[in-house]
Amino acid sequence: MTEVVDLLQRLIRVDTTNPPGNETAAAELLRDYLEAAGVVCELHAKVPERANLVARIPGRGGGPSLALLSHTDVVLADAREWQREPFGAELVDGEVWGRGALDMKGEVAASAVAMATLAREGWRGEGDLIFIAAADEEVGDGFGLQWLVEAQPDAVRADFSVNEGAGDRVELGGKVLYLCSTAEKMSSPFVLRVHGRSGHASMPGIADNALAKAAPLVERLGSFSVEPRLIPEVEGFLNALLGDVPPAPDALTAARAIAPLAGELIEPLLGMTCAPTMAHASDKRNVIPALCEITVDTRLLPGQSPAEAEATIRAYLGEGDYELVNIEGQGGTRSQIGGPLWDAVQSFVEAEEPGAVAAPICVAGFTDSHWLRQAFDTVAYGFFPARAMDSETAARLIHSADERVPVEDLELGVRWLRHAAQSVCG
Ligand SMILES: [Zn+2]
Repeated sequence: MTEVVDLLQRLIRVDTTNPPGNETAAAELLRDYLEAAGVVCELHAKVPERANLVARIPGRGGGPSLALLSHTDVVLADAREWQREPFGAELVDGEVWGRGALDMKGEVAASAVAMATLAREGWRGEGDLIFIAAADEEVGDGFGLQWLVEAQPDAVRADFSVNEGAGDRVELGGKVLYLCSTAEKMSSPFVLRVHGRSGHASMPGIADNALAKAAPLVERLGSFSVEPRLIPEVEGFLNALLGDVPPAPDALTAARAIAPLAGELIEPLLGMTCAPTMAHASDKRNVIPALCEITVDTRLLPGQSPAEAEATIRAYLGEGDYELVNIEGQGGTRSQIGGPLWDAVQSFVEAEEPGAVAAPICVAGFTDSHWLRQAFDTVAYGFFPARAMDSETAARLIHSADERVPVEDLELGVRWLRHAAQSVCG
Protein backbone atom coordinates (compact mmCIF):
# COMPACT_ATOMS: atom_id res chain seq x y z
CA MET A 1 0.00 0.00 0.00
CA THR A 2 1.30 3.45 -0.81
CA GLU A 3 2.21 6.04 1.79
CA VAL A 4 -0.45 8.50 0.65
CA VAL A 5 -3.20 5.88 0.94
CA ASP A 6 -2.16 4.95 4.45
CA LEU A 7 -2.03 8.58 5.56
CA LEU A 8 -5.40 9.37 3.97
CA GLN A 9 -7.01 6.39 5.69
CA ARG A 10 -5.71 7.54 9.05
CA LEU A 11 -6.96 11.09 8.38
CA ILE A 12 -10.45 9.95 7.37
CA ARG A 13 -10.72 7.89 10.57
CA VAL A 14 -10.26 11.09 12.59
CA ASP A 15 -13.77 12.54 12.61
CA THR A 16 -13.41 16.27 11.94
CA THR A 17 -17.04 16.96 11.10
CA ASN A 18 -17.55 20.72 11.27
CA PRO A 19 -19.30 21.73 13.45
CA PRO A 20 -17.73 21.12 15.91
CA GLY A 21 -14.55 20.40 13.90
CA ASN A 22 -12.09 19.00 16.46
CA GLU A 23 -9.36 19.50 13.88
CA THR A 24 -6.59 19.32 16.49
CA ALA A 25 -6.62 15.52 16.30
CA ALA A 26 -5.95 15.70 12.54
CA ALA A 27 -3.30 18.42 12.99
CA GLU A 28 -1.46 16.26 15.55
CA LEU A 29 -1.58 13.22 13.31
CA LEU A 30 -0.06 15.25 10.47
CA ARG A 31 2.53 16.80 12.78
CA ASP A 32 3.68 13.37 13.97
CA TYR A 33 3.91 12.16 10.39
CA LEU A 34 5.88 15.20 9.16
CA GLU A 35 8.18 15.44 12.17
CA ALA A 36 9.20 11.83 11.60
CA ALA A 37 10.44 12.99 8.17
CA GLY A 38 12.38 15.86 9.75
CA VAL A 39 9.92 18.64 8.84
CA VAL A 40 9.53 21.48 11.34
CA CYS A 41 5.90 21.84 12.49
CA GLU A 42 3.89 24.37 14.48
CA LEU A 43 0.34 24.15 15.73
CA HIS A 44 -1.57 27.44 15.82
CA ALA A 45 -4.91 27.40 17.56
CA LYS A 46 -7.41 30.07 18.50
CA VAL A 47 -9.04 27.49 20.79
CA PRO A 48 -7.22 24.28 21.80
CA GLU A 49 -9.51 21.81 20.01
CA ARG A 50 -9.34 23.60 16.64
CA ALA A 51 -5.67 23.72 15.74
CA ASN A 52 -4.16 24.59 12.37
CA LEU A 53 -0.90 22.95 11.38
CA VAL A 54 1.84 24.89 9.62
CA ALA A 55 4.97 23.00 8.55
CA ARG A 56 7.93 24.27 6.61
CA ILE A 57 10.99 23.20 4.65
CA PRO A 58 12.98 26.44 4.89
CA GLY A 59 14.57 27.66 1.70
CA ARG A 60 18.23 28.45 1.21
CA GLY A 61 17.14 32.05 0.64
CA GLY A 62 16.24 34.28 -2.24
CA GLY A 63 13.56 32.22 -3.96
CA PRO A 64 9.78 32.48 -3.92
CA SER A 65 7.81 30.62 -1.28
CA LEU A 66 5.04 28.14 -2.04
CA ALA A 67 2.25 27.11 0.33
CA LEU A 68 0.51 23.78 -0.09
CA LEU A 69 -2.83 24.82 1.36
CA SER A 70 -5.61 22.53 2.53
CA HIS A 71 -8.27 22.15 5.20
CA THR A 72 -8.78 19.28 7.60
CA ASP A 73 -12.46 19.76 8.49
CA VAL A 74 -15.24 17.94 6.66
CA VAL A 75 -19.00 18.29 6.33
CA LEU A 76 -21.55 16.07 8.05
CA ALA A 77 -22.00 12.50 6.81
CA ASP A 78 -25.23 10.59 7.42
CA ALA A 79 -24.12 6.95 7.64
CA ARG A 80 -27.61 5.72 6.62
CA GLU A 81 -27.13 7.16 3.13
CA TRP A 82 -23.73 5.54 2.65
CA GLN A 83 -22.89 2.11 1.27
CA ARG A 84 -19.82 2.04 3.53
CA GLU A 85 -18.89 3.50 6.90
CA PRO A 86 -18.16 7.25 6.25
CA PHE A 87 -15.24 7.27 8.70
CA GLY A 88 -14.08 3.72 7.98
CA ALA A 89 -11.66 4.65 5.17
CA GLU A 90 -12.03 1.31 3.40
CA LEU A 91 -9.89 0.66 0.35
CA VAL A 92 -12.14 -0.97 -2.25
CA ASP A 93 -11.22 -1.64 -5.89
CA GLY A 94 -8.51 0.98 -5.91
CA GLU A 95 -10.58 3.68 -4.21
CA VAL A 96 -10.42 5.04 -0.67
CA TRP A 97 -13.92 5.58 0.69
CA GLY A 98 -14.89 8.11 3.32
CA ARG A 99 -15.97 11.60 4.19
CA GLY A 100 -13.30 14.02 3.05
CA ALA A 101 -11.72 11.68 0.47
CA LEU A 102 -12.31 14.36 -2.21
CA ASP A 103 -13.02 17.42 -0.06
CA MET A 104 -10.27 17.45 0.87
CA LYS A 105 -8.32 15.03 3.01
CA GLY A 106 -7.01 13.40 -0.16
CA GLU A 107 -5.16 16.59 -1.03
CA VAL A 108 -4.16 17.07 2.63
CA ALA A 109 -2.53 13.64 2.56
CA ALA A 110 -0.92 14.20 -0.85
CA SER A 111 0.49 17.56 0.30
CA ALA A 112 1.93 16.02 3.46
CA VAL A 113 3.47 13.12 1.51
CA ALA A 114 4.99 15.55 -1.01
CA MET A 115 6.56 17.47 1.91
CA ALA A 116 7.77 14.36 3.71
CA THR A 117 9.30 12.68 0.67
CA LEU A 118 11.11 15.87 -0.36
CA ALA A 119 12.40 16.33 3.19
CA ARG A 120 13.68 12.73 3.37
CA GLU A 121 15.50 13.20 0.07
CA GLY A 122 17.25 16.20 1.60
CA TRP A 123 15.61 18.55 -0.89
CA ARG A 124 15.62 22.27 -0.14
CA GLY A 125 14.45 25.01 -2.46
CA GLU A 126 15.61 28.57 -2.63
CA GLY A 127 12.27 29.68 -1.19
CA ASP A 128 10.31 28.11 1.66
CA LEU A 129 7.95 25.24 1.05
CA ILE A 130 5.07 25.61 3.48
CA PHE A 131 2.32 23.17 4.37
CA ILE A 132 -0.85 24.69 5.81
CA ALA A 133 -3.57 22.33 7.01
CA ALA A 134 -6.23 24.77 8.16
CA ALA A 135 -9.23 24.19 10.36
CA ASP A 136 -12.74 25.47 9.80
CA GLU A 137 -13.00 25.98 6.07
CA GLU A 138 -16.45 24.46 5.65
CA VAL A 139 -18.20 26.74 8.14
CA GLY A 140 -15.80 29.67 8.34
CA ASP A 141 -16.37 30.72 11.93
CA GLY A 142 -12.94 32.30 12.24
CA PHE A 143 -10.77 29.44 13.55
CA GLY A 144 -8.97 28.65 10.32
CA LEU A 145 -7.04 30.53 7.65
CA GLN A 146 -9.02 33.74 8.10
CA TRP A 147 -7.75 33.82 11.70
CA LEU A 148 -4.23 32.66 10.78
CA VAL A 149 -3.58 35.48 8.29
CA GLU A 150 -4.43 37.99 11.02
CA ALA A 151 -2.96 36.30 14.11
CA GLN A 152 0.06 34.56 12.57
CA PRO A 153 0.79 36.34 9.28
CA ASP A 154 4.48 35.40 9.28
CA ALA A 155 3.60 31.72 9.55
CA VAL A 156 1.36 31.62 6.49
CA ARG A 157 2.62 34.37 4.19
CA ALA A 158 3.50 32.91 0.80
CA ASP A 159 4.22 34.16 -2.70
CA PHE A 160 2.37 31.24 -4.30
CA SER A 161 -0.12 28.66 -3.12
CA VAL A 162 -1.84 25.53 -4.34
CA ASN A 163 -5.24 24.65 -2.91
CA GLU A 164 -8.45 22.84 -3.83
CA GLY A 165 -10.86 24.29 -6.37
CA ALA A 166 -10.14 22.54 -9.66
CA GLY A 167 -7.79 20.13 -11.41
CA ASP A 168 -10.43 18.19 -13.29
CA ARG A 169 -9.51 16.62 -16.58
CA VAL A 170 -12.17 17.39 -19.18
CA GLU A 171 -12.37 16.20 -22.77
CA LEU A 172 -14.05 18.77 -24.97
CA GLY A 173 -14.43 18.01 -28.65
CA GLY A 174 -11.36 15.77 -28.64
CA LYS A 175 -9.23 18.29 -26.80
CA VAL A 176 -8.04 17.44 -23.27
CA LEU A 177 -7.98 20.27 -20.74
CA TYR A 178 -6.99 20.24 -17.08
CA LEU A 179 -8.85 23.05 -15.35
CA CYS A 180 -6.94 25.28 -12.98
CA SER A 181 -8.91 27.70 -10.84
CA THR A 182 -7.23 31.10 -10.77
CA ALA A 183 -10.20 33.21 -9.63
CA GLU A 184 -13.46 33.04 -7.73
CA LYS A 185 -16.77 34.77 -8.26
CA MET A 186 -18.09 36.93 -5.44
CA SER A 187 -21.20 35.84 -3.61
CA SER A 188 -23.14 39.02 -2.93
CA PRO A 189 -26.78 38.23 -2.12
CA PHE A 190 -29.49 40.90 -2.10
CA VAL A 191 -32.88 41.15 -0.47
CA LEU A 192 -35.59 42.70 -2.57
CA ARG A 193 -38.07 44.39 -0.23
CA VAL A 194 -41.40 45.13 -1.86
CA HIS A 195 -43.73 47.44 0.02
CA GLY A 196 -47.52 47.55 0.20
CA ARG A 197 -50.18 48.15 2.85
CA SER A 198 -51.59 45.50 5.18
CA GLY A 199 -55.23 44.73 5.61
CA HIS A 200 -57.70 41.95 6.34
CA ALA A 201 -57.54 39.32 3.65
CA SER A 202 -61.35 39.15 3.52
CA MET A 203 -61.35 42.63 2.00
CA PRO A 204 -58.47 42.66 -0.50
CA GLY A 205 -59.69 45.89 -2.06
CA ILE A 206 -58.73 48.06 0.93
CA ALA A 207 -55.13 46.77 1.11
CA ASP A 208 -52.12 46.87 -1.17
CA ASN A 209 -50.74 43.34 -1.37
CA ALA A 210 -46.91 43.35 -1.30
CA LEU A 211 -46.78 39.67 -2.28
CA ALA A 212 -48.79 40.26 -5.45
CA LYS A 213 -46.67 43.31 -6.27
CA ALA A 214 -43.52 41.23 -5.86
CA ALA A 215 -44.63 38.58 -8.34
CA PRO A 216 -43.72 40.39 -11.58
CA LEU A 217 -40.37 41.44 -10.10
CA VAL A 218 -39.61 37.83 -9.12
CA GLU A 219 -40.55 36.66 -12.57
CA ARG A 220 -38.31 39.26 -14.14
CA LEU A 221 -35.39 38.29 -11.89
CA GLY A 222 -35.95 34.67 -12.86
CA SER A 223 -34.81 35.49 -16.38
CA PHE A 224 -32.06 37.93 -15.38
CA SER A 225 -29.29 38.32 -17.92
CA VAL A 226 -26.65 40.86 -18.81
CA GLU A 227 -24.60 41.58 -21.89
CA PRO A 228 -21.80 39.00 -21.98
CA ARG A 229 -18.28 40.18 -21.27
CA LEU A 230 -15.03 38.24 -21.28
CA ILE A 231 -12.94 38.12 -18.11
CA PRO A 232 -9.28 37.06 -18.42
CA GLU A 233 -10.08 33.57 -17.08
CA VAL A 234 -12.66 32.94 -19.82
CA GLU A 235 -10.33 34.36 -22.46
CA GLY A 236 -7.65 31.94 -21.25
CA PHE A 237 -10.09 29.04 -21.24
CA LEU A 238 -11.34 29.82 -24.76
CA ASN A 239 -7.81 30.22 -25.99
CA ALA A 240 -6.88 26.79 -24.62
CA LEU A 241 -10.02 25.27 -26.13
CA LEU A 242 -10.25 27.03 -29.49
CA GLY A 243 -6.79 28.43 -30.10
CA ASP A 244 -8.24 31.94 -30.25
CA VAL A 245 -10.72 34.17 -28.42
CA PRO A 246 -14.03 34.98 -30.15
CA PRO A 247 -15.82 38.28 -29.41
CA ALA A 248 -17.91 38.21 -26.22
CA PRO A 249 -21.33 37.94 -27.95
CA ASP A 250 -20.18 34.82 -29.84
CA ALA A 251 -18.28 33.14 -27.01
CA LEU A 252 -21.09 30.93 -25.69
CA THR A 253 -22.09 29.70 -29.14
CA ALA A 254 -18.48 28.96 -30.00
CA ALA A 255 -17.94 27.00 -26.77
CA ARG A 256 -21.19 25.03 -27.19
CA ALA A 257 -20.21 24.14 -30.73
CA ILE A 258 -17.18 22.31 -29.32
CA ALA A 259 -19.08 20.55 -26.52
CA PRO A 260 -22.15 21.23 -24.37
CA LEU A 261 -19.95 21.00 -21.25
CA ALA A 262 -17.75 23.82 -22.53
CA GLY A 263 -20.88 26.00 -22.73
CA GLU A 264 -21.93 25.01 -19.22
CA LEU A 265 -18.49 25.91 -17.89
CA ILE A 266 -18.36 29.43 -19.30
CA GLU A 267 -22.03 30.46 -19.23
CA PRO A 268 -22.05 31.59 -15.56
CA LEU A 269 -18.72 33.38 -16.13
CA LEU A 270 -19.93 35.73 -18.86
CA GLY A 271 -21.53 38.11 -16.40
CA MET A 272 -23.07 38.49 -12.98
CA THR A 273 -25.94 36.12 -12.24
CA CYS A 274 -29.12 36.54 -10.17
CA ALA A 275 -31.46 33.85 -8.92
CA PRO A 276 -34.40 34.53 -6.58
CA THR A 277 -34.29 31.68 -4.05
CA MET A 278 -36.31 32.59 -0.93
CA ALA A 279 -39.54 34.50 -0.32
CA HIS A 280 -41.28 35.74 2.77
CA ALA A 281 -44.50 37.73 3.05
CA SER A 282 -47.35 37.47 5.56
CA ASP A 283 -47.11 35.23 8.63
CA LYS A 284 -50.89 34.83 8.72
CA ARG A 285 -53.23 33.53 6.09
CA ASN A 286 -55.82 36.20 6.77
CA VAL A 287 -53.46 39.18 6.77
CA ILE A 288 -52.48 40.83 3.51
CA PRO A 289 -48.74 41.52 3.75
CA ALA A 290 -47.38 45.07 3.82
CA LEU A 291 -43.94 43.71 3.04
CA CYS A 292 -42.62 40.94 0.84
CA GLU A 293 -38.96 40.00 1.03
CA ILE A 294 -37.28 38.07 -1.77
CA THR A 295 -33.76 36.79 -1.28
CA VAL A 296 -31.76 36.96 -4.49
CA ASP A 297 -28.63 34.83 -4.72
CA THR A 298 -26.25 37.02 -6.71
CA ARG A 299 -22.80 36.10 -8.02
CA LEU A 300 -20.47 38.78 -9.34
CA LEU A 301 -17.48 38.51 -11.58
CA PRO A 302 -14.13 39.04 -9.84
CA GLY A 303 -13.56 42.78 -9.70
CA GLN A 304 -17.26 43.73 -9.75
CA SER A 305 -18.57 45.56 -6.69
CA PRO A 306 -21.92 45.09 -4.91
CA ALA A 307 -22.67 48.75 -5.76
CA GLU A 308 -22.23 48.02 -9.46
CA ALA A 309 -24.41 44.94 -9.09
CA GLU A 310 -27.13 46.92 -7.35
CA ALA A 311 -27.20 49.49 -10.13
CA THR A 312 -27.41 46.71 -12.72
CA ILE A 313 -30.31 44.98 -10.95
CA ARG A 314 -32.18 48.28 -10.52
CA ALA A 315 -31.78 49.11 -14.17
CA TYR A 316 -33.00 45.62 -15.08
CA LEU A 317 -36.09 45.81 -12.83
CA GLY A 318 -36.95 49.43 -13.57
CA GLU A 319 -38.69 51.85 -11.22
CA GLY A 320 -40.95 50.40 -8.53
CA ASP A 321 -42.07 50.34 -4.92
CA TYR A 322 -39.10 48.33 -3.69
CA GLU A 323 -35.75 48.53 -1.95
CA LEU A 324 -32.72 46.47 -2.77
CA VAL A 325 -30.56 45.62 0.23
CA ASN A 326 -27.14 44.01 -0.12
CA ILE A 327 -26.63 41.39 2.61
CA GLU A 328 -22.91 40.66 2.37
CA GLY A 329 -20.10 40.15 -0.08
CA GLN A 330 -17.74 37.19 0.08
CA GLY A 331 -14.95 36.18 -2.26
CA GLY A 332 -14.33 37.63 -5.68
CA THR A 333 -10.53 37.50 -5.74
CA ARG A 334 -8.30 36.50 -8.62
CA SER A 335 -4.67 35.73 -9.31
CA GLN A 336 -2.73 36.41 -12.47
CA ILE A 337 -2.62 33.71 -15.13
CA GLY A 338 1.04 33.24 -15.86
CA GLY A 339 4.32 33.18 -13.97
CA PRO A 340 6.18 30.30 -12.27
CA LEU A 341 3.16 28.54 -10.77
CA TRP A 342 1.23 28.69 -14.02
CA ASP A 343 4.27 27.35 -15.86
CA ALA A 344 4.46 24.52 -13.31
CA VAL A 345 0.82 23.57 -13.91
CA GLN A 346 1.31 23.66 -17.67
CA SER A 347 4.55 21.65 -17.67
CA PHE A 348 3.06 19.05 -15.32
CA VAL A 349 0.01 18.56 -17.53
CA GLU A 350 2.12 18.26 -20.67
CA ALA A 351 4.43 15.71 -19.04
CA GLU A 352 1.61 13.60 -17.60
CA GLU A 353 -0.53 13.62 -20.72
CA PRO A 354 1.14 14.73 -23.94
CA GLY A 355 -1.25 16.83 -26.00
CA ALA A 356 -3.28 17.99 -22.99
CA VAL A 357 -3.18 21.61 -21.85
CA ALA A 358 -3.98 23.52 -18.67
CA ALA A 359 -6.87 25.98 -18.90
CA PRO A 360 -7.73 28.68 -16.37
CA ILE A 361 -11.20 28.80 -14.90
CA CYS A 362 -13.06 31.04 -12.48
CA VAL A 363 -15.07 29.05 -9.93
CA ALA A 364 -18.39 29.99 -8.39
CA GLY A 365 -17.50 28.72 -4.91
CA PHE A 366 -15.45 30.29 -2.16
CA THR A 367 -12.20 28.69 -0.96
CA ASP A 368 -9.47 29.57 1.52
CA SER A 369 -7.35 30.83 -1.42
CA HIS A 370 -9.32 34.04 -0.95
CA TRP A 371 -7.66 34.79 2.42
CA LEU A 372 -4.12 34.44 1.04
CA ARG A 373 -4.87 36.56 -2.03
CA GLN A 374 -6.48 39.24 0.09
CA ALA A 375 -3.84 39.34 2.84
CA PHE A 376 -0.60 38.84 0.91
CA ASP A 377 -1.47 39.14 -2.77
CA THR A 378 -0.49 35.49 -3.06
CA VAL A 379 -0.77 33.94 -6.51
CA ALA A 380 -3.19 31.23 -5.38
CA TYR A 381 -4.48 28.49 -7.67
CA GLY A 382 -6.94 25.68 -7.10
CA PHE A 383 -5.32 22.71 -8.79
CA PHE A 384 -5.34 19.09 -7.68
CA PRO A 385 -5.34 16.99 -10.84
CA ALA A 386 -7.90 14.21 -11.16
CA ARG A 387 -8.40 11.91 -14.11
CA ALA A 388 -9.17 8.39 -12.87
CA MET A 389 -12.56 9.62 -11.71
CA ASP A 390 -14.46 11.84 -14.13
CA SER A 391 -15.31 15.30 -12.90
CA GLU A 392 -19.10 14.86 -13.07
CA THR A 393 -18.94 11.80 -10.79
CA ALA A 394 -16.64 13.62 -8.37
CA ALA A 395 -18.91 16.68 -8.30
CA ARG A 396 -21.86 14.48 -7.28
CA LEU A 397 -19.90 12.84 -4.42
CA ILE A 398 -18.52 15.99 -2.79
CA HIS A 399 -20.54 16.88 0.33
CA SER A 400 -22.69 13.84 -0.48
CA ALA A 401 -22.87 10.11 0.26
CA ASP A 402 -20.27 7.53 -0.88
CA GLU A 403 -17.47 10.07 -1.27
CA ARG A 404 -14.32 8.28 -2.42
CA VAL A 405 -11.10 8.94 -4.29
CA PRO A 406 -9.10 6.73 -6.65
CA VAL A 407 -5.62 5.80 -5.43
CA GLU A 408 -4.32 6.66 -8.91
CA ASP A 409 -5.47 10.27 -8.47
CA LEU A 410 -3.85 10.50 -5.03
CA GLU A 411 -0.55 9.41 -6.55
CA LEU A 412 -1.01 11.84 -9.44
CA GLY A 413 -1.59 14.53 -6.80
CA VAL A 414 1.62 13.71 -4.94
CA ARG A 415 3.57 13.90 -8.21
CA TRP A 416 1.98 17.27 -9.00
CA LEU A 417 2.72 18.81 -5.59
CA ARG A 418 6.33 17.63 -5.68
CA HIS A 419 6.66 19.07 -9.17
CA ALA A 420 5.11 22.38 -8.04
CA ALA A 421 7.53 22.64 -5.11
CA GLN A 422 10.58 21.86 -7.22
CA SER A 423 9.53 24.21 -10.03
CA VAL A 424 8.41 27.18 -7.96
CA CYS A 425 10.75 27.15 -4.96
CA GLY A 426 13.74 26.60 -7.26
ZN1 LIG B 1 -13.07 21.91 0.64
